Amino acid sequence: MSGYTKEPWHVHHDIDAGEWPMVMAGGVVAGVIVANVNPTSFNCVTGGYVEMPPAANAARIVACVNACAGMDDPAAEIDRLRARIADLIRQAAIGRLAVLALRALEWSRPVIDRNGFLGKGCIECGRDRARGHTDKCELAAILRDSADAGMGVES
Ligand SMILES: [Zn+2]
Repeated sequence: MSGYTKEPWHVHHDIDAGEWPMVMAGGVVAGVIVANVNPTSFNCVTGGYVEMPPAANAARIVACVNACAGMDDPAAEIDRLRARIADLIRQAAIGRLAVLALRALEWSRPVIDRNGFLGKGCIECGRDRARGHTDKCELAAILRDSADAGMGVES
């Protein structure tokens, strides 16, 4: 979509009561009128006039046009963005579940502790729980990073 008047657009507020709000482009001083927003419209189906909120409609037009500045096909781009957000939310949920699973399994590896007793150790580095992870334990790093990322899982 191209060929339309360049953004940003704005609502011209300096109008007398009863006048139609104007949607303008090109700045407050050197602006041009893009559209007059109707306060009423004839409805061909019902045969009557319908009143509308012209100031709110003008504000809506301006907000949508300015928010879509630079988009060749706003509807398609917004659809893509919504799909991407949904995908990111799914991935975050999967990531959180993975972190919770790792957290549950973290200390489930059977190990012999330093006193010679059977105990539980890290499934990654093998250290017993009392000693904690090695400095190079990748599982410890993952759990620490996930907590830093605000996944609600403490390291
Ligand atoms: Zn470890």
